[in-house]
Amino acid sequence: MTDTDILAIAREQVLEQGDGLDEAQTLAVLSLPDERIPDALALAHEVRLRWCGPEVEVEGIVSIKTGGCPEDCHFCGQSGRFPTPVRSVRLDIPGLVIAARQTAVMGATEFCLVAAVRGPDERLMSQVADAVRAIDEAVEINIACSLGILTRAQGEQLAALGVHRYNHNLETARSHFPEVVTTHTWEERWDTLELVRELGMEVCCGGIIGMGEGLEQRAEFAAQLGRLEPDEVPLNFLDPRPGTPFADLPQLPATDALRTIGAFRLALPRTILRFAGGREVTLGDLGTRRGVLGGVNAMIVGNYLTTLGRDPGADLELLDELQMPVKTLSKVL
Ligand code: SF4
Repeated sequence: MTDTDILAIAREQVLEQGDGLDEAQTLAVLSLPDERIPDALALAHEVRLRWCGPEVEVEGIVSIKTGGCPEDCHFCGQSGRFPTPVRSVRLDIPGLVIAARQTAVMGATEFCLVAAVRGPDERLMSQVADAVRAIDEAVEINIACSLGILTRAQGEQLAALGVHRYNHNLETARSHFPEVVTTHTWEERWDTLELVRELGMEVCCGGIIGMGEGLEQRAEFAAQLGRLEPDEVPLNFLDPRPGTPFADLPQLPATDALRTIGAFRLALPRTILRFAGGREVTLGDLGTRRGVLGGVNAMIVGNYLTTLGRDPGADLELLDELQMPVKTLSKVL
């Protein structure tokens, strides 16, 4: 398959028919030479406009339990197994309501409560229930949660609380997962995602690019996400955290990050594709602009969980300049 062929095929199959690229086709896009990246991104942008529209979803996230996680995800500064400088913080409920309100004022429609845990215990579930009720009463915003692996009873409790979307990342291709995490399996994560879908919550599932996986494994991951059909895919680029086993992995070149954005959009034409952690380091300002013009249609405003993000004003100004409307709540309810 030549590079010209793959973009011509993608134009017909993805843009016109709305059928995402399969694994071999995604690999062909990921293998395009640097000079074809602008063409791939331009096509990805057309696909996003055709199948998702011009709106950009803006989201806020807040950590309700930071650090000290018993799992060993090798990229994660919040694992209690590595000597990382992350401090443990717990926010109180009034603080969470204020954070949700500030996030809504910035135009966000989704506010995600995130806890660094393998899965929630009873105490965390009860704190989350209190937080969801308090935010729901005071702020007009959809509430999402990211609390790790769920039991059926916990999933049912979250669905009954009205949690709109649940985030649980597969992180990487199934074949690469054992190199990244040894304390739980890819399949355990997959089971939680199926449960979330079955219980009627939206599924948010993405991963991190640049953790030593090959191009074939990036394509494999895109195909596995394609089978899952998540409502949202947060795409992260490894920002090596000091003290973690991946601290010395090389930074992903910006060209690889851009190729990945284009390829994932062509594999997942209808999903909300979000720029998540690591984009400032990997892509900088110019890359952010190219990503939003290359298939991305969601972004987080403000800070991420353990690293500083960009100034939210700068992101919103960029969307304004590119004439991309921020999705409003009435349209997602
Ligand atoms: S389960 Fe989540 S918080 Fe815990 S180490 Fe893995 S990525 Fe980090």
